[in-house]
Amino acid sequence: MTALIMVDLERVHPVIEGRWHQARFERLPEPGEPVRTLCGLVEAAEYCAVTSRSPSLERCWVCDLAHRRLHGMDVLPTHPGLPRARGEL
Ligand SMILES: [Zn+2]
Repeated sequence: MTALIMVDLERVHPVIEGRWHQARFERLPEPGEPVRTLCGLVEAAEYCAVTSRSPSLERCWVCDLAHRRLHGMDVLPTHPGLPRARGEL
């Protein structure tokens, strides 16, 4: 008999440089396997458990914007991930 650990891949978020990013996973990556975020970063996968002592992290708004667009969600003109909001236009 086995204990089936079920993971909702929509809730798996890579953390890079103190920010929660988003990625599209078809399966959990192996440790060391490259992970590409929706904002274009690529880093090797590493795992740790989330605990109450985990540092607070910021959201990557560029990933959030890409996620919203992928899923047809509304994007307000003030969304912080838009180039205008990031001062890129
Ligand atoms: Zn990102």
